[in-house]
Amino acid sequence: MNAATERVECACSDCVCTMPRDKAVERQGRLYCGESCARGHDNGAGCGHSGCGCAGK
Ligand SMILES: [Zn+2]
Ligand SMILES: [Zn+2]
Ligand SMILES: [Zn+2]
Repeated sequence: MNAATERVECACSDCVCTMPRDKAVERQGRLYCGESCARGHDNGAGCGHSGCGCAGK
């Protein structure tokens, strides 16, 4: 084990992103890759990460 930052998966069901734990946005005990995912894409915006189609509904 080292002190390198652990990577976690975004809790958004459609999101394929992972991010360092210290960059994750925590919302109600879940970790998200960004504000858009944390808010459930209530404004229709995607997470903005390339290769990820979340919020593309
Ligand atoms: Zn995403
Ligand atoms: Zn996400
Ligand atoms: Zn998302």
